[in-house]
Amino acid sequence: MDNKPLPDDFYKKTPAERLSLLQKHFNLSEEECALLRNTGALELETANRMIENVVGAAHLPFGIATFFLINGREVPIPMTLEEPSVVAGASYSAKLARLGGGFTASADEPVMIGQIQLVKVPEPKKAEQAILKAKAKLLEFANSKDPLLVKLGGGARGLEVRTLPTPSGPILVVHILVNVLDAMGANAVNTMAEAISPELEKLSGGKARLRIISNLAVHRLARAKAIWKKEALAKEPFSGEEVVQAVIEAFEFADADPFRACTNNKGIMNGIDSVVIATGNDWRAVEAGAHAYAALDGRYKPLARYHKNKNGDLVGEIELPIAVGTIGGSIKTNPLAQISLKLLGVKSAQELAMILASVGLAQNFAALRALATEGIQRGHMRLHARNIAVMAGAKGEQIDKIAAQLAEEKAVRMDRAKELLEELQKGRKKSD
Ligand code: NAD
Repeated sequence: MDNKPLPDDFYKKTPAERLSLLQKHFNLSEEECALLRNTGALELETANRMIENVVGAAHLPFGIATFFLINGREVPIPMTLEEPSVVAGASYSAKLARLGGGFTASADEPVMIGQIQLVKVPEPKKAEQAILKAKAKLLEFANSKDPLLVKLGGGARGLEVRTLPTPSGPILVVHILVNVLDAMGANAVNTMAEAISPELEKLSGGKARLRIISNLAVHRLARAKAIWKKEALAKEPFSGEEVVQAVIEAFEFADADPFRACTNNKGIMNGIDSVVIATGNDWRAVEAGAHAYAALDGRYKPLARYHKNKNGDLVGEIELPIAVGTIGGSIKTNPLAQISLKLLGVKSAQELAMILASVGLAQNFAALRALATEGIQRGHMRLHARNIAVMAGAKGEQIDKIAAQLAEEKAVRMDRAKELLEELQKGRKKSD
């Protein structure tokens, strides 16, 4: 391996030149380079325009969760992720929810917050008043920066000012509230936040520092609800009533304990993130917003809640901020994102947010049901066995043969997979 750093002008090179440099530096085989070069549905030139220093594209499986009935509409759910059991879990939940009418979902208007930090403000109270007095003018100026958004019915709508204590002295934090319509909104909002900063400096006598969107999108919440009929939940050896009670107790555990709530919400995000990724959206933004919202009361809480209705059925409800777009960012240039949006049949970002909330709830129910009854390892291990077989070196049909044997023996372990592979290879040699 060449131990020199990559050249300073690495970023100026074409993707092919970068890859050949990598090949030399890190001794990549032709096969490894071919894998990187194989960009699938993403043209190398498109990828090269999306981020910096591109040499290829990485791949994740793209699957479809089925059985989702959302607000009375059948919706196939495209999911992009590497983890086994997630697509199956979501589909299973959605199937069981159909007896109760599927998912009912809603979403707030897509209003995002842009933050401007003002430091060294001589008289914060006076500055706050001056800024609020100039609200109409400030919003008008912000809107002049995005005439298309305004023409389509969106734009800057409100202004809020807070004074916060910090070790370096009080700071004034101005929030500009922007209806970003079908965009995730970060670029739109950041542009407006930067645009009004000089005027805010004049009005406050302070200095503008950070001017950036907040991912804690509390004005852009999405909600979903489902009723799982107790009859639908009965599964040997558990009665429907027992499963309802077990899921409620699993929720109560998360409600009482942040250690459990964290894992509970990770499960919710397994579903949400994979659809966010499939639709070409910014999953870090949705992740950040979800976890901050879970801790908004000062204690980290589960994002979905459960109770029993008067029929004894299980009612699940979820609420979280979901800032996603059907336009903007790289959504238009990402062909797989376009296919996902077509499958989902969504016309607006609000509709997409409703679907995401439903998927999050479905995923959470799947995890809680499995954890509170048979445990997740049984289902998980069956799928995981395939990964272990591949890691042991199995190829083609060997993968399924070895995975089935590992699951059968309840020994989903690398050492056993290697033994089985050797046996298979010996068997083949004998018959050759
Ligand atoms: P964008 O600027 O590409 O697109 C939004 C623009 O599209 C609007 O300003 C508007 O002019 C136009 N538009 C046309 N039709 C529209 C419609 N129907 N609805 C809304 N707008 C319409 O994208 P964006 O959504 O403002 O920014 C998203 C990108 O910003 C993502 O790639 C994200 O990763 C990135 N980003 C995120 C953060 C963060 O989350 N903290 C920070 C910086 C950048």
